[in-house]
Amino acid sequence: VRHTHEGDAERLSRIVETQRDIVAAGNDLDAVTGIVLASSCALTGADGAMLSFVEGDELVTHGAIGIAERGKRRRPLAASVARHAINSGRPLLVEDCERDDRLDREMQRAIGDKSLICVPLFQGSSVVGALNVMSSPTGKTLTEDDRRTMEMLSVVLSAAVSSAAETEARRAQTEALGRLRLLFEGASMGIVRSNREGIVVEVNPAVEEMLGYPAEELVGLSLREFMHPDDLDHSIALFDEMIAGRKDTYSLERRYRRKDGKLMWGHSTAVLERDAEGEPWHVLSLIENITERKLAEEALVRQSEVNQHQALHDALTGLPNRTLYNERIEQAIRQAARRRTRLAVLIMDLDNFKEVNDSLGHHAGDTLLTELGTRVRNAVRGADTVARLGGDEFGILLSEVGGREEVVPAIERICHALERPIPVQGLPLSVEASIGVALFPDDGTDAEALLQRADVAMYAAKEGNSPYSFYDEALDKRDPTRVMLVGELRRAIEERELILYYQPKARLGSGEIDSLEALLRWQHPERGLIYPDAFIPLAQQTGLIVPLTLRVVDEALEQCRRFLDRGTRLPVAVNLSSRNLLDPEFPDQIEALLERWEVDPAMLRFELTESTMIADPIRTREVLERLSTLGIQISIDDFGTGYSSLAYLKRLPVNEIKIDRSFVMDMHASEDSATIVRSIIDLGGNLGLSVVAEGVETKETWDELEALGCPLAQGYHLSRPMPADALADWLDGRAARDPVS
Ligand code: C2E
Ligand code: CA
Ligand code: CA
Repeated sequence: VRHTHEGDAERLSRIVETQRDIVAAGNDLDAVTGIVLASSCALTGADGAMLSFVEGDELVTHGAIGIAERGKRRRPLAASVARHAINSGRPLLVEDCERDDRLDREMQRAIGDKSLICVPLFQGSSVVGALNVMSSPTGKTLTEDDRRTMEMLSVVLSAAVSSAAETEARRAQTEALGRLRLLFEGASMGIVRSNREGIVVEVNPAVEEMLGYPAEELVGLSLREFMHPDDLDHSIALFDEMIAGRKDTYSLERRYRRKDGKLMWGHSTAVLERDAEGEPWHVLSLIENITERKLAEEALVRQSEVNQHQALHDALTGLPNRTLYNERIEQAIRQAARRRTRLAVLIMDLDNFKEVNDSLGHHAGDTLLTELGTRVRNAVRGADTVARLGGDEFGILLSEVGGREEVVPAIERICHALERPIPVQGLPLSVEASIGVALFPDDGTDAEALLQRADVAMYAAKEGNSPYSFYDEALDKRDPTRVMLVGELRRAIEERELILYYQPKARLGSGEIDSLEALLRWQHPERGLIYPDAFIPLAQQTGLIVPLTLRVVDEALEQCRRFLDRGTRLPVAVNLSSRNLLDPEFPDQIEALLERWEVDPAMLRFELTESTMIADPIRTREVLERLSTLGIQISIDDFGTGYSSLAYLKRLPVNEIKIDRSFVMDMHASEDSATIVRSIIDLGGNLGLSVVAEGVETKETWDELEALGCPLAQGYHLSRPMPADALADWLDGRAARDPVS
């Protein structure tokens, strides 16, 4: 993922034009202020701007334009929004002024601003002023991009003021110009000015901190001395082109070596300053420290490799899992078809494993399975695949076999390997297995058919008490248990045995309830409450997921409508499966349900996992786009567990990401999980997405996520999923207490 802001270089060059005007304005403070305010508005599209300085414990307006003119001239610093920007040391973006309790309410009412950016002006650690831009409810909402623009503008202006002072041949600076100059000192972005030879002329304190060298050791040297050798050629080429006058700006990510030997990743934006004759004079570079983000990105990539392995392997034995076994079979089929050979798909099931597990415990069972996996693996050729399909079931793929007569010796080798007892907790355990075999192309021509038939053969072996059995059409009667379950599920959908539980999601700062997630339960007349993991996969396989999802949406919208009728606006999220996204009729059906319950589409959300979205990217995308166009919000569920490309997700209409609960629950124990949580929060911010942490079970986690700037959370700490009635009571109870606590 690259979060490089492509527009930075261009924006900076527009900012630098402002800088020229300032140089021209010289030491005329009012003129400089006028330029600062006008260009702040012009660059961000804001409706007003204000420059203020600290006097005692008050903030006093020095200049204001547009809607900012309506504000009070003097106000206590302690009540002003600036103090929050000061605390964080960075420009602050407020997107909803009316609801944000960080604002001075009186000031906000006077100005009537909807969004605002406040840039603090520092001298060392004390604040000397603030530069604000704001926009009205009818104007443009200021964004994260504008916040960056203001940050750049403030540092470039400060540098401009300093260079104006230089060229003015030491004429006394006015006090206020000196204050603007302080921006240079207080900026969190590094600023380096180099001459035509690349020698550093001046740096601000942020650079000293980034590189770990004091300014005296940097000035007089070339910044190249501190760059990573791999980035050098490219950097020099860009610099030379700029000095030759062929380029006015460039922007790139590169590495620097700090004094302590550590690596620092910087996002550096350079801009050419010309002298009075228009000749290249200095290069001004703004450096943003992006080391954290780079490390986080690396952790995400590492995690996705781990996920990829985990997604294809069995955790206990390390053998390929069912998914990979399937893939290998398909691959082998293609090869066998080309070479006109056969292949054999085997399914092996242990006969007495359950007894071992029940009498000696899971640990013994695990030891047995691991040893068994190794033995079978050693009994076949290297090119063959041994997979664990789950429980005590293994799959074996024998590629390039001539026919049954070649398969039999292989099976006998496997059975022989199992004959020797396996020592578990000092006991020699013997295991027996039943193996079913299906051959390509005789018994089937795709993986699904072959596996199903090997399964049928395996049951035949078990029933006949023989170690193995080849598939025979006569064996093929449909599995009765499965047919029964499917029938029951179909009935459950019709007879409303499916009920919804709701789990709330809250804003981390205020504790305000943001929305609900609908989670399905099956109230089975005999078996009691069944959780979705036990029946959703079956619904998926049989296509029942299509009517099931419509039922869920119908019911969730009905609930939403009931809440609306009693004055509570709570959007509700429904989980989707990949089948739903492959169904071109789905968006129309959803639209009809929204109309039926007269619920605004913005109140409905869909949660999808990464793997659901990439199951069939082209067709999926079409349905997704249509849902999004309807105004339905899209969340990515269980984020971090998939391995799709983040760059790809960025192109989908996504509004929210939900950090998978495994990372959240693990963030105190594992450094990698903590990094992943942090980086997903950052990533969401960078992509303008809302971020929800799932599985927040403790207050400790809640507080930590709040400190990390995560906007939303869900989990047992707030509430478990509950039926609609219980939820209504819960909400009432909460409203009665202090909603913020
Ligand atoms: P999910 O979408 O990730 O849903 C969150 C699951 O995490 C829920 O389990 C919820 O009860 C549980 N959970 C919430 N907070 C915590 C916590 O703090 N700690 C822990 N340990 N768990 C927490 P549930 O209800 O059993 O749902 C399981 C999965 O079933 C869901 O995972 C979702 O993928 C699927 N599912 C549920 N309802 C539907 C549905 O209507 N349609 C489809 N297609 N899938 C559904
Ligand atoms: Ca979910
Ligand atoms: Ca989830």
